[in-house]
This record gives sequence, structure tokens and C-alpha cells, in this order.
Amino acid sequence: MRTIALLAAALPLAAQPRLLLDTGDFERIRKLAASESWAAGVRDGILRRADAWPADHVRQFGLREWALPPEGAGWSHAYVCPEHGMRLRQEAGKNLCPVDGKDYHGWPIDNVVYMQRNGDTAHAARDLGLAWQLTRKPVYAEKARRIFSAYADLYPTLPVHDNNNRRDTRSGARIMSQTLSESSWLIPLVFAYDLARDALTAEERARFETRVLRDAAQVID
Ligand SMILES: [Zn+2]
Repeated sequence: MRTIALLAAALPLAAQPRLLLDTGDFERIRKLAASESWAAGVRDGILRRADAWPADHVRQFGLREWALPPEGAGWSHAYVCPEHGMRLRQEAGKNLCPVDGKDYHGWPIDNVVYMQRNGDTAHAARDLGLAWQLTRKPVYAEKARRIFSAYADLYPTLPVHDNNNRRDTRSGARIMSQTLSESSWLIPLVFAYDLARDALTAEERARFETRVLRDAAQVID
């Protein structure tokens, strides 16, 4: 009986955030935001971004509704007009040459936008995780769950590909086109997962940990 009682006491603790911030930090942040206007401003900025997801993302990238990109991403430096050598401008789904306004698509141009979308989504997950811990409003955890679930579906299905779209090379990755970028994408997502993990079921956790975290660690390693 004593073992069961100890386990029951330990289980909620095991789900609490601990990676970069723990529950003590959130208590401290709540107090600070109540007494310091600059801290309240930072908190409100996080909550505003969390409230605006996914509407802001959908608008920025010219989507009909939020979804993850269907293919792996491309390399940032490939976002260039093939005729003028100028960096393109992403505007609501268009990739515009600053010289003549021509709209470019296909590999690698669209895939650079996929990189931006994945980066934006990982940072949105982080904001949602923070908003969940700051307010405990379920709407934020629900939105974060959508992101974890979508990546758990997608991650293992994407081929390892590199900046030149060659398959299974040492520098390649799944979401991004190099292990460096895969890491930059994964870090805010891991932070997000640690923050919102206590809102997920055991099955959802196992799925995300196996299909995203462990698989991505292998790819990067
Ligand atoms: Zn051009």
C-alpha cells in the first residue's frame, strides 16, 4: 500500500515541466508579472501569440487552414530568384522576385517556405506550452496537442534528405534538410513538449516520444 501511495504521489510530479522552467519558475513569473509592468508585458506578448495561433500562421503563409507542410523542407540559402540572384520575398504563399515580381514555386523554393512554416510552428508550440503553464487554460494545451499529434503522424514518413534533395546522406534530416536545422526546429518543440506534457494522455506521450523525439535524435546523431 505504501508503494502505491508513493507512486500516486510521484506520478503528477513526473508530468510537471522541468527542462528549462519548472513549476517554481512559473510561480515566480506569476508574482513578477503582478508587480512589474515589463514582466506583465512579456507575459501578455506570449499569450497574444498563443491566442493568435493558428490564425496568424495561416494568414502569413497564405494557407486555407493550418497543416504541416507535406514534404521535408529546403535550405534557406536556396530562396533566390534563378534569373536575378536576388533573395525572394515570401508573401502569403507567393515567392516573389524583388526585381520583376515573378512568383516562383517547386523545389527548392516552396521547400524553403516549408522550413519557415516548421520553424514558426515549433515556436508556436513553445508559446502555447508557456501559455498553458502560465494560465492553465485548456485551450492552449489543446492547440499544442494538435501540433504534437501532427508531427507524430508526419515525422517518420518523411525521407532523410539534404540541401540538394539527395536521400540518406550524412548531413540530411527529415523535417529540415540538414541536421543543424533539424536541431533548431526540435529545441523549441522539446521545450514545448516538456511544458504541455502534463495535458497529454500516456498514449499521446508515448507516440510523440517514439515517433518524433527518439527518431529525430537518431537522425541528428
Ligand atoms: Zn528575378
